[in-house]
Amino acid sequence: MAVLWLDEISAGDLEKVGGKGASLGELTGAGLPVPPGFVVTAGTYRAFIEDAEIDEELFEAVDVDVDDSSALADAADRAQELILETPFPEELREEILASYREVGNGEAFVAVRSSATAEDLPDASFAGQQETFLNVTEEDLLDRVRECWASLFTQRAIYYRQEQGFDHSAVNIAVVVQQMVDAEKSGVMFTSHPSTGDPTMIIEAAWGLGEAVVSGAVSPDNYVIDREDRSMDVTIAEKKVKHEKDEATGQTVEREVPEDKRTQRVVSGDEIDALMDLGERVEDHYGEPQDVEWAIVDGEVYMLQSRPITTIDESGSDAADAEGGDPAKGLTDGSGSVQAAEGGSADTADASGSGEVIVDGLGSSPGTVSGPARIVTKLDDLAKVGEGDIIVTEMTMPDMVPAMKRASGIITDEGGMTSHAAIVSRELGVPAIVGTTNATTVLEDGQVVTLDGDKGSVLEGSAVEPDEETEPVEEVRPQSPVKPMTATEVKVNVSIPEAAERAAATGADGVGLLRTEHMILSLNQTPEKFIDENGPDAYTKELIDGIRGVADEFYPRPVRVRTLDAPTDEFRQLEGGEDEPNEHNPMLGYRGIRRSLDRTDVFAHELEAFRRLYEMGYDNVEIMLPLVNDAEDVYRAKECMKEAGIDPEKRKWGAMIETPAAALSVEELAEAGIDFASFGTNDLTQYTLAVDRNNEHVADRFDELHPAVLRLIGDVIETCREHDVDTSICGQAGSKPEMVQFLANEGITSISANIDAVRDVQHEVKRVEQKLLLDSVR
Ligand code: PEP
Ligand code: MG
Repeated sequence: MAVLWLDEISAGDLEKVGGKGASLGELTGAGLPVPPGFVVTAGTYRAFIEDAEIDEELFEAVDVDVDDSSALADAADRAQELILETPFPEELREEILASYREVGNGEAFVAVRSSATAEDLPDASFAGQQETFLNVTEEDLLDRVRECWASLFTQRAIYYRQEQGFDHSAVNIAVVVQQMVDAEKSGVMFTSHPSTGDPTMIIEAAWGLGEAVVSGAVSPDNYVIDREDRSMDVTIAEKKVKHEKDEATGQTVEREVPEDKRTQRVVSGDEIDALMDLGERVEDHYGEPQDVEWAIVDGEVYMLQSRPITTIDESGSDAADAEGGDPAKGLTDGSGSVQAAEGGSADTADASGSGEVIVDGLGSSPGTVSGPARIVTKLDDLAKVGEGDIIVTEMTMPDMVPAMKRASGIITDEGGMTSHAAIVSRELGVPAIVGTTNATTVLEDGQVVTLDGDKGSVLEGSAVEPDEETEPVEEVRPQSPVKPMTATEVKVNVSIPEAAERAAATGADGVGLLRTEHMILSLNQTPEKFIDENGPDAYTKELIDGIRGVADEFYPRPVRVRTLDAPTDEFRQLEGGEDEPNEHNPMLGYRGIRRSLDRTDVFAHELEAFRRLYEMGYDNVEIMLPLVNDAEDVYRAKECMKEAGIDPEKRKWGAMIETPAAALSVEELAEAGIDFASFGTNDLTQYTLAVDRNNEHVADRFDELHPAVLRLIGDVIETCREHDVDTSICGQAGSKPEMVQFLANEGITSISANIDAVRDVQHEVKRVEQKLLLDSVR
């Protein structure tokens, strides 16, 4: 038997039908209303490659050095070609088609999804599990099945298995073929409260197919129902779009929801009852709370998927605590700096109850830690930084990152809230204070101190026990899977690839800024020197490796990667730095797109990294151009993309708005073809106010909320809306509540925040959106 029907399958059949198939079979067997379908089993795939005698060649083809990008690309091409070009044996073709004809009398549109069988792969999606084809008919069915099989051998899948040490020949793949439900309404349901396990059901619902809700494209209605007395709290959202099948092409398309249905409640009382009955049955069946995807068509409720909720806190801690985090911690950026500048020191001493304040500066990464100070004055001192030490240095450099990871805290003499030390420490989740002016002279090596990264003060002695410290990844992981659904996307900034896991754990909608500088600066050579000594391919490969780590972690969520933007004073410290121009004002000098357009030879190798990533299947990567001044910069960069083999019409790319000039010429930038404009408020503020962002002496004048900066931002958002260009913020200010309120009110498309601020920004955005909604109906 090449296929098994869903009602013949149970949870124990994982090896035969993969995770997805087993779960659907189990639900069908339990009498739950799952759309009908069958699974082309993993054994069928195996027999296909073995009978055609392509198996050995297949596994040999993918046994390559995955760090060699071109070898990896050739391996994936060859393996996929072997599968796609091998014809179906007649008997198999007939059996699959005959099964299809039994579903919906042969006229059904079906979903074809791969279902990999290597259960123990940490993220089965890399086994090709994400290959899904919707609205497939008889004509294309067999090709789609073969494409699911071939998806086991994308570059990403091969790379991932190799990195994780999985044997390629041990992974098999099944394919689920299931009738599509043309949902009128759909959504998700938590059968018990996702953080506390209390008998409270939470239902989220929107019009059309469920992907709109699952992908976050729409803010759904929210129903919170007490399972005991069925009392209910309902929040109706404005549902502007829905996903549905286009009758003419059979493709899933996004359409506008008609005006009169946008604020209409999606599920009726009867439907809530039906969903609740279903929720209780499925929870009883599995004996634990479930996270269910459901759909309704013609009054019939269907279950599309169910999996256990894994986030319930067994210790019984209160949901509000779990979701809101420590309110005192909040959004510390910026506000922390004001507190410190205004003399937060006295408070600090009181608050901690021990020690004297010996140094103060800008609290740039929250948290309080105690440990011995390690004065790092030159690079070869880094080895002395041990686990739990507090690094004290003039300013951090990219090659200090490994030591910064070992450290429990970081204190610098120089720098502002957007300096290297501030950005990297926040991403690593290491408490930090920058811009103290004198820490390296006042503190002594080995002296035990307490660093308060919220208030920006350093106290004598130890006030914190080491075991009070938290684990950086877990700290940012939301405790509740009910992510605040917002129409404005909330993304995250990443500056060092090492922070990717922590960034992804926030549940952000993607990466709004991936800085490439740290990947290059940590090579310890200027790009030109590195290329001279190691060749252009090595340079491209460094970028591919750095970007790929983040793109994998977030796939398929978008990752906006910025082309190189480091000032010459940073390059000057590296090998080859003697050839850098000597600039009086590096911030106003040879950086960002200016440098790239001047050294198009180097820029070409950078763009080659993007081209290869696209070729490998990283279609979630977007290109962002820094320090653009006008449309001329954009046209020239676009030419470079084309020369590098990147089709600007096919890929998403855009410009940062970091200079008043760019803000004032955004209409021309839109005409030049940008898909998005992203506010780099660190630079936009420094250039609008003429305040050096890294100068601690004027840090109190660095105000991203200055009316002049807000005016430029507001005008850009308005113009971009008229031209259908997305807007975003990726500067530090995107983590400040006041800025979030302003931007959400102005109608920005997305906000990209620091890792530790994502959760609060999601809540802040939701609050603003709900207020807008309420104001519009009052
Ligand atoms: C900015 O200028 O706001 C920005 C995000 O870029 P960077 O901080 O890297 O200059
Ligand atoms: Mg910038």
